[in-house]
Amino acid sequence: MEFRDTPAQAAFRAEVRTFIEQELPAAFRERHPEWGLFNVGREGRFPLDALGQWRRALVSRGWIVPAWPKQYGGAGLTVVEQFIFNEEMAVQGAPQLRGIGGGWAGPTILLYGTDGQKRRFLPGILSGEEIWCQGFSEPGAGSDLAALQTRAVRDGDVYVVNGQKIWTSLAHRARWMILLARTDPDAPKHKGISYFLLDMKLPGITIRPLVNMLGSHEFNEVFFEEVRVPADCLLGEENRGWYMAATTLDFERSNIATSVSMRRIADDMIDWACAHRRGLPPLVRYELAERLLETEVARLMSYRIVSMQARGLIPNREASVAKFYVSELDQRLARTGMQMLGLYGQVALEDGYAPLEGRVPRHYMHAVSSTIGGGTSEIQRGIIAMRGLGMPRG
Ligand SMILES: Cc1cc2nc3c(=O)[nH]c(=O)nc-3n(C[C@H](O)[C@H](O)[C@H](O)COP(=O)(O)OP(=O)(O)OC[C@H]3O[C@@H](n4cnc5c(N)ncnc54)[C@H](O)[C@@H]3O)c2cc1C
Repeated sequence: MEFRDTPAQAAFRAEVRTFIEQELPAAFRERHPEWGLFNVGREGRFPLDALGQWRRALVSRGWIVPAWPKQYGGAGLTVVEQFIFNEEMAVQGAPQLRGIGGGWAGPTILLYGTDGQKRRFLPGILSGEEIWCQGFSEPGAGSDLAALQTRAVRDGDVYVVNGQKIWTSLAHRARWMILLARTDPDAPKHKGISYFLLDMKLPGITIRPLVNMLGSHEFNEVFFEEVRVPADCLLGEENRGWYMAATTLDFERSNIATSVSMRRIADDMIDWACAHRRGLPPLVRYELAERLLETEVARLMSYRIVSMQARGLIPNREASVAKFYVSELDQRLARTGMQMLGLYGQVALEDGYAPLEGRVPRHYMHAVSSTIGGGTSEIQRGIIAMRGLGMPRG
């Protein structure tokens, strides 16, 4: 594998770097981005006008959704260019404003939506005016998602939806939801599910907040009572939703494995340790060194995936290996950060006393979710063992 950029890739990297240097509003440089994989609410920490300015700059280059074709507002970047783009954004701490809409709802609509659905939904995702949420998990269906029980029954030109979703990130701010519901209860469980693009303003939808242990409201319970969803909000064919959901989850997992941001966390911690703690215990020094090594391993895993995609191969086991490794590394990094700070690790507020603006304890509490969201570590282990290593089912 060739690790160095080709001349064209180097030129593109320089272009992205210059763009960020010139366009990223000062508010983002002054406030460091939160650490970790699942900081859903972090955009809320920045002034709205700075967010708008940054969004407009990204939109003007097609870089909100750099992978999308140009005709839909993307930049049509190759896999390697997207990787370079993501690397540079992470290195400079520039937030990507894709969200669930640009990250995985939009790409699924691009693949399976009608022309009318593309015209209706893609512009709102690009402009950031329409936030999306993902109504997949239910109290009895998380890892075993195909066991979902929310029902959608056809009634003339609408589907009537009843049921409940849980852990729905940003449902309280979302205009639209990608919803999985059972349309054929008699079919085998994977074959009776349909995929809807649901208007969150429809009557019969109730949203209840779930506050996480950081005290922040990021996800919710969502209840549906006789919600009448227009039939033209069905994505693809009825009862084929499971296969489209698998595509959505592939997009979601490939968004999660951001090895470069792990490297940035390790670098920031090491810089702080060098500057502030002369008497750092040897154990913490060793741990920091190990974490740095591990972020390099994660980076090589990402390179492997990107180089496979660039050759037209589909990384399946490799994507699960990377998701597993990066999310476990996220937690190890957070633990090392807490050990490094000692008692200062208790100070989470962004006041003058909190080292590293309080990012370490917030990261520590948030990192618990890294090995759950987007598929738990146990599920990734199962995929690696069976699909990757060919082991028989137990
Ligand atoms: C930060 C965060 C944001 C999220 N946002 C959303 C969202 O926006 N929309 C959405 O739909 N969902 C969302 N989720 C939910 C997430 O997809 C589920 O939590 C996840 O799929 C696990 O499901 P569960 O919580 O029901 O756990 P369960 O599936 O009940 O698992 C419980 C435990 O059993 C283990 N287990 C389960 N099955 C197996 C097996 N076959 N082999 C071995 N071990 C097993 C699991 O690994 C886990 O440790 C979010 C979760 C988090 C943490």
